[in-house]
Amino acid sequence: MNMGEYEDEIIGENLQELVWGGLWRCKACGNGCSPGVDKTMLKKEFKSLCHGIFYANRNWIWFYDPDEAAVKGTKRLLELEKRAREAKVRKRC
Ligand SMILES: [Zn+2]
Repeated sequence: MNMGEYEDEIIGENLQELVWGGLWRCKACGNGCSPGVDKTMLKKEFKSLCHGIFYANRNWIWFYDPDEAAVKGTKRLLELEKRAREAKVRKRC
C-alpha cells in the first residue's frame, strides 16, 4: 500500500481510527512473524504489528464484519490507494 502518500487526507477525513482498528497485533499468529514489528501508522506508534511473513512481509489491515460507516470508509481508502497507484504509474511514463 501507499498510505504514506495520502496520510494527511486520511487524517483530514477522520479515517485514521478505522485503519488503526483494522491493524493486526501479532500474538503468536502462526505466520512465523512473532513478535511482529513496531511501526508508526498515521502518526501513532504501534508495538508488535503482525507483518505476515508468509505473505510477502506486508502489514495487514482487516475490517472484520464492518458496519456501514466502515464500508464507506474502506471505499474511500481504496479510492485514495487507487489514485496513489495511478500517480506512480504516470510518474514512470
Ligand atoms: Zn504475526
